[in-house]
Amino acid sequence: MRALVYEGPRKVRVKNVPDAKIERPTDVLVKITSTNICGSDLHMYEGRTDVEVGKVLGHENLGEVIEVGQAVEKVKPGDMVCLPFNISCGHCQNCERGLTGFCLTANPGNAGAAYGYAGMGPYNGGQAEALRVPYADFNCLKLPDDALEKETDYVMLSDIFPTGWHATELAGLKPGESVVIFGCGPVGLMAAYSAMIKGASKVMIIDRHPDRLRLAGQIGAIPIDDSKASPVEQVLELTAGAGADCGCECVGYQCHDPAGHEVPNATLNGLVHSVKATGGIGVVGVFVEEDPQAADELAKQGKIAFDFGLFFTKGQHMGTGQANVKAYNRYLRELIHQGRAKPSWIVSHELALDEAPEAYRHFDARDNGWTKVILHPAGPRQRSGRQREQKRARQPELAHAE
Ligand code: NAD
Ligand code: ZN
Repeated sequence: MRALVYEGPRKVRVKNVPDAKIERPTDVLVKITSTNICGSDLHMYEGRTDVEVGKVLGHENLGEVIEVGQAVEKVKPGDMVCLPFNISCGHCQNCERGLTGFCLTANPGNAGAAYGYAGMGPYNGGQAEALRVPYADFNCLKLPDDALEKETDYVMLSDIFPTGWHATELAGLKPGESVVIFGCGPVGLMAAYSAMIKGASKVMIIDRHPDRLRLAGQIGAIPIDDSKASPVEQVLELTAGAGADCGCECVGYQCHDPAGHEVPNATLNGLVHSVKATGGIGVVGVFVEEDPQAADELAKQGKIAFDFGLFFTKGQHMGTGQANVKAYNRYLRELIHQGRAKPSWIVSHELALDEAPEAYRHFDARDNGWTKVILHPAGPRQRSGRQREQKRARQPELAHAE
């Protein structure tokens, strides 16, 4: 089968690899029809992880079940399914508590497994014609009969919509509260979208890319350009000096200043300073245990200089980690199905698998207009006339705006 393979820093290639196949009776095989490129893929693409050469990337996957293992009971060939980026068993201590991002079974010796990802187990990814899905009865989210029509929305259930939602959960956002979000990439945009759906009174989002900030403005978030003035000062100004009720980190360990120099503690300290006393901070941007290629000495060892004194004085609290996609995807699917959410408003490109290396290059450079790329390994999606219109207009449909 054809698949996108990691070959070294900034080198990915689409080539023939051995076919994905059923390996255990609890597996299914999925023909991938939509698979996204994620900001998480860029950490690997840039050579800033220990991902192995030859790995098939891709953890944001949706497609049609084409074969099922003998022990699979619920999932049938022909089902359209969206797969959480986490691979989880469903029966370990963490999975039982809904913490499927920290499954103790799927990646023995570690908590958490994923498709096509550094340190997350031996699993290949879905930027390919087919994907092996382990523990399939647990992991497959079946899609309703509008699966094809809303495919570009449903594929966001694999990661960034639940991850953005998770950021607001970790931050403890409640209706009527304000939130500050660092990072206006796909994850930050989904955190902002989730905050709007949850009834936040003020959603402030920080970045320096005008195209991304513009998208945030379309759903009523307040874009803050940190290349113009201190982002903390801007948030304090917008909140009468008090700070936001809570905050989200949606950038990760490669966060940098507007000139491009990495400042690994910029976003976390920015949050401590711009969130009010007693406020919550949700960190979904990825931080790593070691980063040998970092310029910063502490960062090389996976450490940062954190303003813990101020964090303590302000009585803030923080939640971190991979999103437990299964905790949310069923409910977010219903928001999409009922027309109450349309996360595809951030999609900028729908491309063939062969175009993936070019897409990685543009997305990695955060080139103007490259917000979110969906690859279609099984050929272009059939779009109805109405959807084409919607795509042209590219207007977000917010739950409460309808
Ligand atoms: P992205 O790289 O496209 O977006 C990050 C954005 O942050 C960029 O627009 C960049 O300009 C901006 N940025 C950089 N430094 C900044 C700073 N100092 N202040 C404000 N903004 C800054 O990636 P993405 O797809 O949006 O992903 C964001 C992060 O979330 C990545 O670290 C990714 O690995 C992580 N992630 C985590 C999970 C999870 O489950 N926890 C899931 C998906 C992605
Ligand atoms: Zn992702």
